[in-house]
Amino acid sequence: APATPTDFIRDIVAADLAAGRHQKIVTRFPPEPNGYLHIGHAKSICLNFGIARENNGTCNLRFDDTNPAKEDVEYVDSITTDVQWLIAGWADQCLGFKPKGSHPDAQSVNGRPDHYRASITLGSSAAEPFFASDYFEQLYSYAIELIKKGKAYVCDLSAEDTETYRGSPEKPGKDSPFRTRSVEENLDLFQRMRAGEFPNGARSLRAKIDMTAPNMWLRDPLLYRIRHVAHHHAGDKWCIYPLYDYAHCLSDYLEGITHSICTLEFVDHRPLYDWVLESLELPRALPHQYEFSKLIPGYMIVSKRKLLQLVENNVVTGWDDPRMPTLSGLRRRGITATAVRKFVIGAGVTKFDALTDIAVMEHVVREDLNTLAVRRLGVLRPIKIVLTNIAEGEVIECNATNNPQDETPTTRKIALTREVFIESDDFAEVPPPKYFRLKPDGEVRLKYAGIIKLDEIVKDATGAVTELRCTFDRTTLQGEPGSDRKVKGTIHWVSATQSIAAEVRIYDRLFTVSEPGSEEDFLKVVNPQSLEVVTARLESSLAEAKLEDRFQLERIGYFALDSKDSAPGKLVFNRTISLKDAWTP
Ligand code: ATP
Ligand code: MG
Ligand code: MG
Repeated sequence: APATPTDFIRDIVAADLAAGRHQKIVTRFPPEPNGYLHIGHAKSICLNFGIARENNGTCNLRFDDTNPAKEDVEYVDSITTDVQWLIAGWADQCLGFKPKGSHPDAQSVNGRPDHYRASITLGSSAAEPFFASDYFEQLYSYAIELIKKGKAYVCDLSAEDTETYRGSPEKPGKDSPFRTRSVEENLDLFQRMRAGEFPNGARSLRAKIDMTAPNMWLRDPLLYRIRHVAHHHAGDKWCIYPLYDYAHCLSDYLEGITHSICTLEFVDHRPLYDWVLESLELPRALPHQYEFSKLIPGYMIVSKRKLLQLVENNVVTGWDDPRMPTLSGLRRRGITATAVRKFVIGAGVTKFDALTDIAVMEHVVREDLNTLAVRRLGVLRPIKIVLTNIAEGEVIECNATNNPQDETPTTRKIALTREVFIESDDFAEVPPPKYFRLKPDGEVRLKYAGIIKLDEIVKDATGAVTELRCTFDRTTLQGEPGSDRKVKGTIHWVSATQSIAAEVRIYDRLFTVSEPGSEEDFLKVVNPQSLEVVTARLESSLAEAKLEDRFQLERIGYFALDSKDSAPGKLVFNRTISLKDAWTP
């Protein structure tokens, strides 16, 4: 495999190793379980697991689950599945492992147990994920510590007043009237917050930093808020929950993370990340935060909040709808983990936001499937041909190539019979100039079979074409002397009797504009024609199709079996992608 090109984060990691600042690199991928993972997350996964992989380090999958109101186990499960899918066979050996129970490396911080967890390299992906909510007890102890150090206080301002007191980037903030509370009073109130004595929003725990700091995040940010709501992982043990900026840095510390990599919107949070860790005067090496730009592919939405709206408004059938940019949607569509990784890694790691051309992703997907997919014949919009010089019941076996990209391509037998189907637009009664497919008195080659000539067009009472009667030139069969006779057109076909009917779903882009995320109302730029369903005729071998198989229907595109709606005898195929880009904006 080609080496991953270096980038500014990998350069930092290499320099840290060279300087002996770390013995082992530990990264993490920290999704909030409030939605399904999307293609943007794949970039973060590949960066974090990639760095671990290249340096014999580990990467923890950690649920950043501090906001129970929007989170759910459904998301925990789907994220776990999707991460495993994406890294399987590539970086599963780097997955950070969470040992059960106490660990010999456990140390103590200021007399309290510190559940330091050494990362263990695994040969399989069976490791348990980490949960920030597993650290709630420790985070609470650290908060007590901050209060004792005079670095945190309980504030009774309402959410609205807190906002007003914060000021604006142009205007310095004002100290909260509760800022001067004594340590004893703060300890008492914070313990009572935990005990459930106060209603939602009545009080909060805030860091005591600087209400005039130019960086708004340092103006006494909230560390804890009261939320009387059960937690999907921690149960009903808590009614105060830590905020992201407080929980994240400490979770990183507790897991021994060396490089905490996130996206650019967190640049302004970095001083707060460092402030929390430094204020606690922790004994071990501190993690450091580094930021890179988000991946935003053209024509896609990469925001869980907006993707949820697509699901809730039934614009799509679910998070795993094959038109969704979610990992479960891309997988169901037939895109492989290899192609996803190749695309997101190829997009590079930078410090400035830019739209990534969707053509790049489509190119990677086609390249991947071109090597992988076996070729098959299938007709999406069939029209019947009767080969009048082939007897009823006669079967002419033809050899068809499975994959010309293989080193030694294999073949299979396909049946040519009296009745076959061709694509209805491979026939024109009144052909435009330079039309080389089937036309009155014209000849065309049926791929792998031979040349046919159109003799007669049969129509019903309404004038609709019901069948085309042709003669088959037997001298052009494989192995016959005329097999290399030239005609200008070659088309695909299937036997009418030795084929199966199947539902085929043809997808187009979900949005009509390249930056749907920048629209005022992205729901207004949904492509109304993003799904077309046809009943296709496919060569009979496709009755045996498996979920993991990939097919190229010759001249049409790449296809995969649908993992949800397909059943034996009632197959549903998704078109992963067309053979060539036919898209005009
Ligand atoms: P969303 O806006 O979709 O909810 P998020 O950043 O809030 O995204 P998280 O669950 O916090 O979602 O994401 C987990 C990790 O993935 C974070 O480190 C985040 O920075 C990263 N990430 C999220 N979106 C992208 C993206 N488009 N490109 C690269 N990394 C991303
Ligand atoms: Mg987030
Ligand atoms: Mg979010």
